[in-house]
Amino acid sequence: MKVAIIGGGAAGFFAAFSVKEHHKDAEVVIYEKSSKLLAKVRVSGGGRCNVTNSCFSASKLSKFYPRGEKQMKKAFSVFQAKDTVVWFEERGVKLKAEDDNRMFPTSNNSQTIIDCFLREVNEKGIQIATQTPVNKLISTKNGITLRFDNRSENFDKVVIATGGSPKEAGFQWLKDLGHNITPPVPSLFTFNIPGNPIRKLMGLVIDTATVRIQGTKLSYTGPVLMTHWGMSGPAILKLSAWGARVLAEKDYNFNIQINWVSIKNEEEVNALLDNELPTIRRKKIINANPFNLPNRMWTFLLRKADISPDSLWLELSKKSRNKLINLLLNDVYKVSGKTTFKEEFVTCGGITLSDLDFNSMESRVCQNLYFAGEVINVDGITGGFNFQAAWTTGYIAGKLL
Ligand SMILES: Cc1cc2nc3c(=O)[nH]c(=O)nc-3n(C[C@H](O)[C@H](O)[C@H](O)COP(=O)(O)OP(=O)(O)OC[C@H]3O[C@@H](n4cnc5c(N)ncnc54)[C@H](O)[C@@H]3O)c2cc1C
Repeated sequence: MKVAIIGGGAAGFFAAFSVKEHHKDAEVVIYEKSSKLLAKVRVSGGGRCNVTNSCFSASKLSKFYPRGEKQMKKAFSVFQAKDTVVWFEERGVKLKAEDDNRMFPTSNNSQTIIDCFLREVNEKGIQIATQTPVNKLISTKNGITLRFDNRSENFDKVVIATGGSPKEAGFQWLKDLGHNITPPVPSLFTFNIPGNPIRKLMGLVIDTATVRIQGTKLSYTGPVLMTHWGMSGPAILKLSAWGARVLAEKDYNFNIQINWVSIKNEEEVNALLDNELPTIRRKKIINANPFNLPNRMWTFLLRKADISPDSLWLELSKKSRNKLINLLLNDVYKVSGKTTFKEEFVTCGGITLSDLDFNSMESRVCQNLYFAGEVINVDGITGGFNFQAAWTTGYIAGKLL
């Protein structure tokens, strides 16, 4: 059996390994259009490669996918994060989980993953052709013909693992075969807040803020990082993933409403203040911050509420107190534009899910053709979920069921 894998990234390599695991005698070639293999693996996770996440329940794991939750739940029953850990361990690569469940090689170096894959390629006798773009696929009676720059070759089975593309035109060759493409839009980006003085707080992290996107049901609680262009951090990135499509429809112009303190409503803030006031009333407001906010943030909010930081708590008028409470609970910022996060960004969109049978990853449109990785309309939030989708779909596709 002759098998072609198109794309030398995470999903393509994993699919190739799976083919050899399930079909020892198959002849497998990975075609990569660029001169570099596993380029994203190398730069991933800040050069450490966040390989997967230590969420070892298929149904819980699937909840981290804004696109493809239902389908990935089924796929994870075949190969999930635990299987990834075992797969790497069997090949001498130990993974460790950090406090937030992200898993990295203990070497903290993505090269460990690349070396492991290249060893595996050698051991399994997988061929690799770099600088070999596949331009067209033609479905034939006996299999699939691949058209390269100046030749064609016939294969029994083909796995497409060509990754995401920011433009719909990048999927045209797959559309030509009859596949439906869910229009691509970016996911995992940060919010630009041009001209707003909050940007002066760049580098500051608020550990537990709740960010809501006005006019939607989208909301996320987690760390928010101030940047010189606006806001980033896990809460913002995760919101960008859940809201990838609706935020694209808004052309990245929307308001966010932030609760900076882990307190639900005005009554609770008032109760906390009333409780604290007897001890802090003679203190300067700047020095007695009952909300445990970092000093720079506290000063910023006081200034925003037109409260002199050097005034005493006993001097605070009812009006100023209400203004401050409102900022603590419902601080609004106008977002205009996005910045693709330098650490991780993915495509939301790609091969429409109903075109694939997730038991095999085979196309329902074209026989003997399988899909794996980001080319499919599946994407996860940050935390190792995107690689996990690549390993899982690559593994299933490589069974060539
Ligand atoms: C900077 C960055 C950091 C990231 N960090 C993480 C992380 O730590 N953890 C995580 O889970 N996810 C991370 N991601 C996301 C993750 O890298 C991707 O989801 C994953 O690499 C997708 O794998 P893939 O094999 O589907 O696609 P890709 O890795 O994009 O590989 C596709 C390959 O196919 C090739 N190709 C395309 N078209 C053709 C063609 N016609 N012929 C031949 N070859 C072709 C491409 O050149 C490419 O090499 C990160 C992404 C970025 C950009």
